[in-house]
Amino acid sequence: MIVKIPVLRRFCPSCGKTTEDLFEGLCSECFLKNTELVRGKKRIELGICYDCHRARFNKFWREFPGMGAIIQDVITRNIKPRHGVILRTHYSEFVIKGKTEVPVKIDATLSIGGKDLSKKYDAEIVIFPEICPECSRLRGGYYEAIMQLRGEHKDEMRKYAETHIHNYAKDEPNAFITKVEELKEGTDLYIGSQKAGRMLSVAMRKAYNVQCTITKKIHGMRQGKEISRWTIFLGPDKSKNSRDNQDSKGAGDASAVQESNDSSVE
Ligand SMILES: [Zn+2]
Ligand SMILES: [Zn+2]
Repeated sequence: MIVKIPVLRRFCPSCGKTTEDLFEGLCSECFLKNTELVRGKKRIELGICYDCHRARFNKFWREFPGMGAIIQDVITRNIKPRHGVILRTHYSEFVIKGKTEVPVKIDATLSIGGKDLSKKYDAEIVIFPEICPECSRLRGGYYEAIMQLRGEHKDEMRKYAETHIHNYAKDEPNAFITKVEELKEGTDLYIGSQKAGRMLSVAMRKAYNVQCTITKKIHGMRQGKEISRWTIFLGPDKSKNSRDNQDSKGAGDASAVQESNDSSVE
């Protein structure tokens, strides 16, 4: 009697392809489709000092031998390979000028069952130029405007200002905060660019529904031009109390106050 032995062929249960090379039960294509070789943030934001090129990690500034080392470090911190995966990163040379987006290509290679399986990922490092405290001191604490944050939203406003000021760095190279002063009445931010300060205050007035007034003070002359310093107040409506005492007719009129103050500095 002849017993017919069926030829056992291995196949991928997902796509049906016949193959001897199965990875965790799947063909290489299906395995890669279903498996991420890395995890973590693909868009990473980073502060770099304009002057000394140190990188900021929360509140700490760290020195690196070069831009390549910074990129490598940032990728290693943020993008975690799966066990057994080796990462290779590629990026093109770039110049930091304002907010700078650096596309990074990542090749992730997993050695499994004697084979190498690779997958490509795109990441992006967004560099915000800042001025570190040391360089700010070297620049003589340069500022064009003091932003006074007052009232219950002062901490949120400070956070907002610190995160968003760099959005204006493309056009305003001095869009940075030189100094932060915590006072008992609130927080003062010293800002390198009046224009950036004003654009920021317009956004913050809306976001926090506060009054915004800008006052201009002549501070000196340079090459026949007046140099001014601005004080940008963001906080509760100062005149509201007296108005409320009279009657309610002026209530909610903060925007009118704002407009007249704004036009005085045009
Ligand atoms: Zn398959
Ligand atoms: Zn610096």
